[in-house]
Amino acid sequence: MKPRDIFLKALRREPTPRPAAGSATSVVTVDLMDRVGAAFPEAHLDAVKMADLAAAGATVLGFDNVMPLFSVWHESAALGCKVSWGARDRMPDSHDAPWKFGAEPAVPRDFLSRPECRVPLEALTLLKSRLGGEFAVMGKVFGPWTLGYHLYGVENFLMATLDYPDAVRRAMDRLKEVTVAFALAQIEAGADALCLADHATRDLCSPEAYREFLLPVHRELARRIPCPVALHICGDTADRIPFIRETGLACFHFDSKVPAAAARELAGRRLALMGGTSNLAVVRSGTAEQVRADVLAKKAAGIDIIGPECAVPLDAPFRNMVALTDEVRRPG
Ligand SMILES: [Zn+2]
Repeated sequence: MKPRDIFLKALRREPTPRPAAGSATSVVTVDLMDRVGAAFPEAHLDAVKMADLAAAGATVLGFDNVMPLFSVWHESAALGCKVSWGARDRMPDSHDAPWKFGAEPAVPRDFLSRPECRVPLEALTLLKSRLGGEFAVMGKVFGPWTLGYHLYGVENFLMATLDYPDAVRRAMDRLKEVTVAFALAQIEAGADALCLADHATRDLCSPEAYREFLLPVHRELARRIPCPVALHICGDTADRIPFIRETGLACFHFDSKVPAAAARELAGRRLALMGGTSNLAVVRSGTAEQVRADVLAKKAAGIDIIGPECAVPLDAPFRNMVALTDEVRRPG
């Protein structure tokens, strides 16, 4: 079975000859940039460099999928956030919060054709034509909770959930249309599957807030996005996995703060699981032996797609990801 088919079947928990090796978030490291000859920050805003670097996720690291949206900022930048695109060894960042509750600017009608969205769309098309027969092409969109953090500022957005919950719901209704429009454009550009990242992390979003604000939205996104979607939330999500399994989303990309066996039990039989390997302890600092032991533990727990828990630290050695994917492929 081709890597593409293993990845896409594993996303739906259909039978596969082995678990998939993959990630919904960035697997780029500085030493991988050196190897490929395409680097940050150019690879965020140049479609050919973006596709070259993303392709290495499969051709150098050995993952079954590729995913070219390395940062969290593309659609927010196209909506008007001023973003600093970082450096070779620094991810992009923004401290802009251009929207205010009560005075939100309209979503620009042309946001999908602005460079920050157009470039990843072009990169997805390049990846589909170069590698799409062999490997799964995954895109990435942000949910309205994360977009709210970016556009209103984290603190303002979280205060508003307490003080003006109806305004937050209205904001999320508008922002969810951005998520859907970017998702549909990525599918049309060539994405076989999508990561939906929505940073409803435990320290910033209680399980009650997840159920009240996010569960209905994630359920609606699962219904409206016509491809398998993996939800990504960092941190300890044990208290909300039982809600996530009710969304109808295909897969949850989880953090090592939830032990793999516990995640499997909480996810039930239908929700696929991806990730769970610690970026700091294993991917960045582990020996090859520790990486292999971690993969064996994930296999034993029944993790469908094995790989890093979140965007890999840029100073991690890419060899550890090669050790990881080798072990995922090893029979037995
Ligand atoms: Zn994350």
